[in-house]
Amino acid sequence: MSEVPLPSLNAAFTALRSAGLRPRRDHPLRRRGWWRLGGPADLFIEVSTAEHLSLVLQQGLPVTVLGNGSNLLVADAGVRGIVVKLGGEFRTTTLVQGPDGAEVVAGAGLGNPVLLKRLEALECSGLGCLAGVPGTVGGAIRMNAGTHLGEIGDRVRQVEVVLDNGQRAILPAADLRFSYRRAHLPPRAIVTRAWLRVENDRTRVEAQRQAVLHHLERRQATQPLEQPSCGSTFKNPPGDAAGRLIDACGLKGTRIGGAQVSEKHANFFINTGDATAADVYALILRTRQVVFEQHGVVLEPEVHAIGDWPPGAWPLPAPTTSGLHRTD
Ligand SMILES: Cc1cc2nc3c(=O)[nH]c(=O)nc-3n(C[C@H](O)[C@H](O)[C@H](O)COP(=O)(O)OP(=O)(O)OC[C@H]3O[C@@H](n4cnc5c(N)ncnc54)[C@H](O)[C@@H]3O)c2cc1C
Repeated sequence: MSEVPLPSLNAAFTALRSAGLRPRRDHPLRRRGWWRLGGPADLFIEVSTAEHLSLVLQQGLPVTVLGNGSNLLVADAGVRGIVVKLGGEFRTTTLVQGPDGAEVVAGAGLGNPVLLKRLEALECSGLGCLAGVPGTVGGAIRMNAGTHLGEIGDRVRQVEVVLDNGQRAILPAADLRFSYRRAHLPPRAIVTRAWLRVENDRTRVEAQRQAVLHHLERRQATQPLEQPSCGSTFKNPPGDAAGRLIDACGLKGTRIGGAQVSEKHANFFINTGDATAADVYALILRTRQVVFEQHGVVLEPEVHAIGDWPPGAWPLPAPTTSGLHRTD
């Protein structure tokens, strides 16, 4: 991302302050991401209304939307322009009657755990697939987040987005063409609300609770949930599991700087304390190279990179065909 001229940043800062918002300059993002690393945002702002979001988009600066940072690799050099987080009215839930039954209209800034708690209180089920996914509704839509209990895309009827020109649009689920850990949103579109199908039936709530408990116990036993990570680093290739391939290469425990392939789950890369984004990036490249050499499979990252990376860093360069691509 190219440098944003200081006068533009100053002008945006002043305009947002004058509208009663609280933009922050050079705001550290490391405490906002699950990997606990990366540099600052030129400007960081939390918006609580659609009006404020559109004001942010009118500043003529690049805008990056941050959910809960649970799938983000933030560059050490930070993020140019504005990083926006959705609060206030973007964290509400309303139970409505949709064309095919009960639906929850969920704000995109709402955390999945809160959504699940509210649904349980309303005696609704259907979104157990989000249990243990520590992101927001917007991040879940963007990633088509899910578990073996399903994917959010199966539950979406439509979403509301704000396009980069500030206009709002309602997109039916079919337009998003949900696939494995992917939704096709218009470029730079920000999801603001989602209409999600639920079941308003007490017996199903209990069945879901049992399935979720079992699922969470299994995760606790198999994933390094007590250490900073972004969950699965790579997507599973068709018919296989990225973790199995990485493990079979003997890479568990491999370390570059402060980044390490977890001993507990090979597809979780953990920050052992002082990892930089460059460390994680180098570990991603190394792992991908070794898996390619030993299994002939090119792993695709599940994590999203944001910010100011060196040219050519993303999309990841193809693995080399001779010798280990050493990056440390
Ligand atoms: C311990 C752990 C376990 C995990 N387990 C799972 C799992 O089982 N299944 C799974 O699918 N994922 C899992 N993840 C990954 C992650 O939680 C999901 O990808 C989640 O959906 C990301 O949501 P987020 O709000 O944190 O998004 P972020 O990480 O903040 O952002 C991810 C991407 O979504 C974009 N985005 C965020 N909000 C919006 C919005 N409102 N509109 C448009 N784009 C947006 C961001 O710009 C970015 O490109 C796990 C992560 C961790 C740390």
